[in-house]
Amino acid sequence: MAVTLRDFMSSGDVLTIEPSATLGEAARALRKRDVGAAVVVEGGAVVGIFTERDLLRAIADSRHPDVGQVQSYMTANPVTLPPDHSPSEAAQIMSERRFRHIPVMEGDELVGIVSIRDLMSAGLRIGSADAHMGTDFP
Ligand code: AMP
Repeated sequence: MAVTLRDFMSSGDVLTIEPSATLGEAARALRKRDVGAAVVVEGGAVVGIFTERDLLRAIADSRHPDVGQVQSYMTANPVTLPPDHSPSEAAQIMSERRFRHIPVMEGDELVGIVSIRDLMSAGLRIGSADAHMGTDFP
């Protein structure tokens, strides 16, 4: 049987956060779970993704952690993939689009999240010459 994202993704308890959450709440949630991304969910629907990169932009803008909100810095309508998708294609999308996370959706349901780290630790090669080790993939 073909190898799919289901074989590499983190599933079960994906970190989610509301768009109205503060930047501080988001930072604490990421730290507590020791992950780099949270899927932004509103009324049960996936509306965005918020990662440590977004937190960095908020800090650079001098946004206060108790005032600034996730919705101002998240990326709306993120790229998602179904669990039966090819892992190497997912890695290629991440490399080309320069992000490191893809929520995995089965229809409207969030079933997991896959990171570039998940795919790298699985030994897959990132097929792009402009992938910068240590910056894009710390
Ligand atoms: P990352 O490298 O995953 O920390 O994300 C870098 C930037 O891309 C951040 O602004 C994220 O909000 C955004 N981003 C991350 N994952 C996705 C995705 N699957 N679709 C669209 N944007 C994303």
